Amino acid sequence: MTIRPAGRRITRATVVTVVGAAILAATVACGTTHSRLPTEAEPLPPATAAALLAGTATAPGQDCGNPRASLVPPDPMPAPGDMPAGSFMRTIQDRGYLVVGVIPDVPPFGIVNPQTNQLEGFDVDMAKEMATAIFGPGNLKIRFRAITNAERIPAVQRGLIDIAIATMTITCDRRRDVDFSAVYYDSGQRVLVRRDSGFRRIEDLAGKKVCAAARTTSIQAIATVSPAPIPYPVTNVADCLVALQQGTVDGISTDDGILTGIVDQDPYTMIVGPRFTNEPHGMAVNKDHPDFTRFLNGVLETIEKNGRWAEIYRHWLTGPGTEPVPAPPVPEYQG
Ligand code: GLU
Repeated sequence: MTIRPAGRRITRATVVTVVGAAILAATVACGTTHSRLPTEAEPLPPATAAALLAGTATAPGQDCGNPRASLVPPDPMPAPGDMPAGSFMRTIQDRGYLVVGVIPDVPPFGIVNPQTNQLEGFDVDMAKEMATAIFGPGNLKIRFRAITNAERIPAVQRGLIDIAIATMTITCDRRRDVDFSAVYYDSGQRVLVRRDSGFRRIEDLAGKKVCAAARTTSIQAIATVSPAPIPYPVTNVADCLVALQQGTVDGISTDDGILTGIVDQDPYTMIVGPRFTNEPHGMAVNKDHPDFTRFLNGVLETIEKNGRWAEIYRHWLTGPGTEPVPAPPVPEYQG
């Protein structure tokens, strides 16, 4: 299956603009013209970012049963603008804005639109739905923080963000450190190569360098392919495209939705071979706030039932001649 973002096609000529715009993600106002405060996409301060990454690797090999199973939503759901006293949602409501960590350079999930300087994408729209469910419609009350893949878990654990909505695969290893919402997008890992390379599947890249972002399931999975390519980790997956274009690596392997965003930036690339992993995306929440995880699951159920999820999916992840919008992931709960 090939999925393509619609109406957001990025030409080769705009690659530099897009990458440059991603760097701007740290500084641009986003989401509203009414107030800068709640919607700025700020980077983590450099010292904080460095501290976050010290000693945070999660030991592999944990078994958690069904990693997709999250917490049952509240019944009834609290009304927007009226979060229950004592809940973490009430803390957010009283603060006046939701703090969401997103990766700002992974189209079509999170990217700064160079025309508008607005952060947008599938993950960004999911964040907006969550904020609207807390505060009610109207002025969008979100502060986006630009994070890297490696910063996702430590930023959630240390309370620097309320939630990471950041192309994040739910795994048992990660569930030891953070809670996850129910699955909001099902992806799988494939490989992208230059069209003229002759490579047609991940196994063809044995002994070749294959790029993915550090601290991702993608970089781990590259090493498990047999015969194995050489994993080439970079800070952001956007750096992989530059490495491929410069000939430093022969392939990029990560979630196929992310690869589709890369193909749209460089038509001389193509996605080859089947999915060789399952990558269910979830929203990461601090383990101290299970009420918030339950709430997010309730919002997901609402937007999956009322068609909003399909609308967002159609906008970012489909295009002419591609697969229709799939059914939303079936929510799975345990407790
Ligand atoms: N979904 C993968 C992960 O969470 C890869 C994400 C990415 O490269 O942005 O590790």
